[in-house]
Amino acid sequence: MSRLLTLMLVFCLAAPAQAEGFISRLLNKPVPGGVAVVDLGPATSAPTVRYQNKPVLVIHEDGQRWIAIVGLPLTTRPGPQEITLNGTTTLSFEVGAKHYAEQRITLKNQEQVTPNPQNLKRIERELAEQTRAYQQFSARQPSNLLFDKPVKGPLSSPFGLRRFFNGEERNPHSGLDFAANSGTPIKAPAAGKVILTGSYFFNGNTVFVDHGQGLISMFCHLSAIDVKVGDELQRGAVLGKVGATGRATGPHLHWNVSLNDARVDPAIFIGAFTP
Ligand code: ZN
Repeated sequence: MSRLLTLMLVFCLAAPAQAEGFISRLLNKPVPGGVAVVDLGPATSAPTVRYQNKPVLVIHEDGQRWIAIVGLPLTTRPGPQEITLNGTTTLSFEVGAKHYAEQRITLKNQEQVTPNPQNLKRIERELAEQTRAYQQFSARQPSNLLFDKPVKGPLSSPFGLRRFFNGEERNPHSGLDFAANSGTPIKAPAAGKVILTGSYFFNGNTVFVDHGQGLISMFCHLSAIDVKVGDELQRGAVLGKVGATGRATGPHLHWNVSLNDARVDPAIFIGAFTP
């Protein structure tokens, strides 16, 4: 193919996409466990948006139009969904299907597969604490929506895998894993405030960072936590170190990203999403 023809082809392919902004193109992956970017049109002030009665991240893209960035839980059924704009108007969008693979994990510690009643109580308490963190909604604007990778290292387990521990099905994989040695520094992928730290039965040493408007990161299995609740982190600040605490078969970082209290695929935010 001639160079001119190639250039023309590239231009033609690129032209329609430029009609929508960079953030929309990066984040719009409307599948269960993905993100839907919904155009709200122009407005003089920020519209308020709710999805399943939860507040939604809204940004002003390219200084022109407002967009809603909606997190879609893994349990979302493909088909039409809707958001509420300013408490009155409904806007609909379409959710497509996505197939998630299975993963089988062997744990030596059977207690991490079938916990005893005392541990079940602890797990329930910890789950409630973490759910409250995910439900926080602060007014701040995220510093960046194209996130930096929190650690150097290859991606290991993807988001959404249906998981079987010692043959028994448990919750699907709610985050993205990076393979990294114990002690590797973990950096904030965007600016944010530390809203929760803990040492949890499944997640081990854990840090929650609020990036703004319901966009929240969770970092798990840390060998060390280097921050405390209330700390303001700049983009790239070290918040802890990779480890294998909690239910982990070896050192790695497990990273969750949540939007409007829905855990979504973190790969979307680092440009590594695979359909
Ligand atoms: Zn994980």
